[in-house]
Amino acid sequence: MHRHVAMDVEFEKLHVLMPLVGRTMRLSPLWLCRCLCRSYCVVSEFALLSGKRRDCGCVSGRRTRIFIPYDKKIGRLMLLSFTGKVDNNDEPLFLFRCSCIDNNQEHQQHGFGHIEVPLGNVLRNPPYSCGCRRVELARKMEIDIANRQFGRLRAIRKTGRKTKSGTNIWLCKCRCKKFTEASVSDLLSGHKDSCGCKKQEVLTPDSPYSIIQGGTNLAVISRNEPNALNTSGVTGVSYLPSCGKWLATLQFQNKILLRKTFVDFGDAVDARKKAEERYFKPFIEIMADKVE
Ligand SMILES: [Zn+2]
Ligand SMILES: [Zn+2]
Ligand SMILES: [Zn+2]
Repeated sequence: MHRHVAMDVEFEKLHVLMPLVGRTMRLSPLWLCRCLCRSYCVVSEFALLSGKRRDCGCVSGRRTRIFIPYDKKIGRLMLLSFTGKVDNNDEPLFLFRCSCIDNNQEHQQHGFGHIEVPLGNVLRNPPYSCGCRRVELARKMEIDIANRQFGRLRAIRKTGRKTKSGTNIWLCKCRCKKFTEASVSDLLSGHKDSCGCKKQEVLTPDSPYSIIQGGTNLAVISRNEPNALNTSGVTGVSYLPSCGKWLATLQFQNKILLRKTFVDFGDAVDARKKAEERYFKPFIEIMADKVE
């Protein structure tokens, strides 16, 4: 048995790779080791010399506190090996392979594919990719969204300014006719979908979108099947035998929002559908937001 721990020395399954800066509570030096199972672990000199530790845990079943399994996968990254190098903080660097390599074209475009990650980051704050994801996101954030609708907001044009994280800020026009600014990431992610008027309406009792006004049954609004009581087969459209016309109606929280007669059945259905879209859809969207 060895009397000293040094680089490249083996203790049964454990191959000692390099000394680390820290020490145990009992001031025993720490060593980075590779196990025969190809996993990495940190073992104290005391544990190596005393024979308390002979593997990463794969044989003994007692896993080391600091342990990196050989098949460690982080997002797009797959652990390859210890690099034999340390970073500026003396942390050992591990080499990861990014799955973007599999897509040769993508890889060649930005010249990525591998990344070295310090031990501390592998354990606590691992990156997701070799850097290719950031490039992809940035590219996505450069897209032209002119005239695209995001909830109540329609994107008008780039302001020319960017957020701290580098995404474009766009001038948008809200359905309420107010102008506002929003970043592409906020628009695409749905974080911003009105000038702020939507939030206010949700909190204002008199608004048709209000959720603090009681008495509305969301299940009734969302239902697409016709109500059994009406005579046309379409909810909100009924036949008036007295005048021979079709009546399109829409009531919401005891307010009459539509009450109009049509000669043509199709026109009545259209009017009802349009009113539904105008009054119910935003409400259901808001409710859905709230539920989430
Ligand atoms: Zn092992
Ligand atoms: Zn990558
Ligand atoms: Zn608005």
